[in-house]
Formats: sequence, C-alpha cells, structure tokens
Amino acid sequence: MRGIVWLRRDLRLSDQPALTAACEACSEVIPLFVFDDPLLRSKTFGSVCVNFMLGCLEDLAASLAARGLPLQWRRGEPVEEVVTAAREWKVDVVYWNRDYEPAALLRDRAVQLQLAEQGVEVRTFKDHVVFEADEVCGITGEPMQRYSAYRARWWTKWQAVKPTLLPIPRGLCVEKAVPLPAPRPIPAARELGYEPLTPWIRAGEQHARKRLAWFVAEPIHAYVNSRNLPALDGSSKLSPHFRFGTLSPRTAIHMALASLATGGRVSRPDVLTWIDELVWREFFQQVLSAFPRVAGGPFRAIAVPPARESGPERDRFFQAWCDGQTGYPIVDAGMRQLNETGWMHNRVRMVVASFLIKDLRLDWQCGERYFMQRLVDADVAANNGNWQWCASTGTDAMRGYRIFNPALQSKKFDPDGAYIREYVRELDGAASKWIHEPHLMSPDEQVHARCRIGRDYPSPIIDHQQARREYLDLAKQQVKR
Ligand SMILES: Cc1cc2nc3c(=O)[nH]c(=O)nc-3n(C[C@H](O)[C@H](O)[C@H](O)COP(=O)(O)OP(=O)(O)OC[C@H]3O[C@@H](n4cnc5c(N)ncnc54)[C@H](O)[C@@H]3O)c2cc1C
Repeated sequence: MRGIVWLRRDLRLSDQPALTAACEACSEVIPLFVFDDPLLRSKTFGSVCVNFMLGCLEDLAASLAARGLPLQWRRGEPVEEVVTAAREWKVDVVYWNRDYEPAALLRDRAVQLQLAEQGVEVRTFKDHVVFEADEVCGITGEPMQRYSAYRARWWTKWQAVKPTLLPIPRGLCVEKAVPLPAPRPIPAARELGYEPLTPWIRAGEQHARKRLAWFVAEPIHAYVNSRNLPALDGSSKLSPHFRFGTLSPRTAIHMALASLATGGRVSRPDVLTWIDELVWREFFQQVLSAFPRVAGGPFRAIAVPPARESGPERDRFFQAWCDGQTGYPIVDAGMRQLNETGWMHNRVRMVVASFLIKDLRLDWQCGERYFMQRLVDADVAANNGNWQWCASTGTDAMRGYRIFNPALQSKKFDPDGAYIREYVRELDGAASKWIHEPHLMSPDEQVHARCRIGRDYPSPIIDHQQARREYLDLAKQQVKR
C-alpha cells in the first residue's frame, strides 16, 4: 500500500501519530507539505512566522533525508494540490493529523470528499492537543465554557488515560521511499513573498527538544514567580514549537512531570502551573473547535462599551499603539519587543491588549489581527481566545471590569525597568523611580535622564485614570440598557 503523510502543523518525527500509522500500514510512504498560496498571499501571518515555519521545514526535510525519505513539497491551493498529488502518485491512502481551525476544517473536508471520489482513503489522527473537544466536556457532552471547570476535567482525564508517547517510527527508512523526482530545496522566504529573517527562537524539532530539556531541568521549578517577570528568561518560549508541531504537547507534559523525579531543587506547584498553561492552550483549541464563530467575532454578544468610531483620532491611537509610542513605557516596550523580535512576554501581551481595548477603546479585533501579523507563535485559537478574554467578550467574560493599570503592572513586574530599558532605549538614562511614569519627571530630571518628554519620548497619549472611568461608565450604561 502506498500512502501520503500530509504534514501541516506537526513538523516533527517523534510522537507523530499520522507518520507512525503510515509507516506501520504502508509499504511506501510519501511525506508531503503544501505551501498554501492563497493563505500566503493573504498576509494573515508575518515574515517572522513564515521564516520560522521554513526553518522547521528545512529541519524536517533534513531529518527525513537522513532516513532516506525525501520531503516532497508543492505550492498552490491545498485541496487541489493534495488531490492532484494523490492521483499523480497513485496512492491508496492519505494520512494527516487533525487541525481544528475553521478554515482548516473546511479544507480538510473538501480534500476528503475529493479523495473519496478518486477511491483514495483518508485516515486522520489526534495530535495537536492531548484531548479533543469531545473528550473533555460537560456531563451531557456539551463543550465547556469555563476554564476552571475545563482544567479540573482535563486533569481527571489525564490521570485516567496517561497518554503514551510514540517513538520515531522504526519503519521510517529508505525501503519505504517511492521513486519520485528529487524534491527541490525548501523555498526561501523571498520566493514566497516574505522578507527573509532569522527568527530569534530557533526553529525545528531538535531545537524544540533542546529548549524543553533546558527548561524542565531548572527554570520550570521557579515558574510561578518568574513567568510574570518580562526581564527574565522565565518561561519556556516554546509557543512557536507548539504552533508548528515541532514538539508535541504530550512530550512536553511527560518531560515536565518526569523532571519532578530527578531530585535536586524541584517544585511540583511550579511544574503543575506550567502544565496548566498548556491546558489553557487546549481550552482555547476546544473553544474554537466547538464554537468556530469566535474566529470572526465575539463569543458573547454581551454589553461591552462600543469601540471608538473611525476617524483621525482612532487612527492616531492605533498607530501609536502599533509603533510603541503611547507614552506608557510598559506598553511601548511590549509593542517594540513584538515588532523587533516577533514575540512578546505573556504578562505584557495582557497589558497591551487591555490598553488597546479599555484605555484607547479600539476594536479588539484590530489588535488580534496585528498580533497575527507580527507574532512568531501566531495561532488562531490562542490569539483569539486571549484577545476575547482581554476584551471581556470571551467564554469567561467579566463584563469589561478587568482593566490593567499600565504603571502598576510595570512597577510590580518590572520594578527596575530592566525590560523597559531593553526596548525603550530613550528611557535608559531615567532613574528607576521614573521609568514607569517618565512624564512625571521634572524638567531638571529630564535633562539628567537625557530624555525630554514630548521630544525624545512621547507624553501619554491618554490619561489612564480618566480613560478607565469613561470605560466603566460606558460599561454601566450598556448594562442598564
Ligand atoms: C492578547 C494575547 C494574545 C496571545 N496570542 C497568542 C498566540 O497567537 N499564540 C500563542 O501560542 N499564544 C498566544 N498568547 C498566549 C501566551 O502569551 C503565549 O502562549 C506565551 O506567552 C508563550 O510563551 P511561552 O512559550 O514562554 O509560554 P509558557 O509560559 O512557557 O507556557 C507554555 C505554553 O503554554 C501555552 N500557553 C501559555 N499561556 C497561554 C495562554 N494564555 N493561552 C493559550 N496558551 C498558552 C503556550 O503554548 C506556551 O508555549 C496570547 C496571549 C495574549 C494575552
């Protein structure tokens, strides 16, 4: 039997269900990746994300080549490309790991239908999550809307099932190779219409595993505190690897739990808190899978204040937010980190999102889109779920009262301003006392700090306390209606 393994967001060899199943059942295996031209043209994702994906593909192609199996790739409309490949290569079956994004579900259904017409079988597998939406659900099978309840059930399920890991398939070898023309090298970013960049987080399965090994050896055991401090390397920075599947969540969880048995300074609460973040990831995947409409709008049509109307002020606010020129150092540091590196610390993501929605009163979907275009880990489920959480329109909405005070967040989580100084370089000379609210410096202090507010660094574009009051008033009016 001849089979294609259609690789998508599972760019690795170990703990890879579709690849393992194909190697077990087929005498001939063709690993295939399709560059989705319409998606690439839409520029939904940015250069940093595309370059990361290309790095993962190069790593995967090298790992497969080392085992005598070339990674075939095609470029075009994915349904057409997969169906054509199956016909041209005369395959009996196509394998893939499931994807829960609404567009991906439609695409996969179309491929399945067309392959069925050609008499080609399709076999699909759970991979991207530990548990799919229908495995962790309410008593009557309904999808869960509260993270805390979901988390409790998720852990019960984990204890009951303890998913095992799949090794790199032994059958992944030259004997399975199909005599096809040798594939061309993986295209460069420029050929796909993107700027070439070297992502700051290194791509590929080997780097994912190295980073995970480093993280579970030590930093994970101090995660509860250090994860909130943006100046530290206190979180795993594995999000792009989970996004492109260079690491499976099962591997990460097993290794995290195994680290508790290594002796030395280990901490169970820290490890469990880190795994809970992966449960958040699964939670948002199941929300998207059960309620695909969230990808296009609010989960809940609750009474949140309307976004500011379009016009020059709205445009000025949005531009200042995107450029990191709001006059709020923690917000500006976050946005500049995003623009420069393609990544932003989680705590700061929450602060900048709250600032966009509650202080500037701009549509959360503008922020969601901007993040998708800039993040190396851009992921529909996690991005949408978190933006809706910040906008109070999501599954566990709090009606708009969750408003972050940027200066307080900054004082608490970046007390010396080390993070701010790294990205807002014009404030480098400011004393720690002023770094969070530099507009409060006297003219003499500004001279001493070599930073004139309004010239070298902007004055706040909005008054936080006033914006907060206005937002809450608007929220109350909405509730009364
Ligand atoms: C407004 C906003 C937008 C976001 N957009 C994305 C996005 O597009 N892609 C993305 O992967 N994450 C997103 N997040 C979640 C979170 O910020 C990142 O996953 C995290 O910062 C990645 O860093 P890390 O790998 O060091 O995380 P760690 O702290 O090491 O956590 C481990 C893993 O858990 C998952 N995780 C952690 N926090 C969350 C969370 N809040 N929601 C869902 N999964 C989580 C990630 O896969 C992460 O790699 C967003 C958060 C906010 C507030």
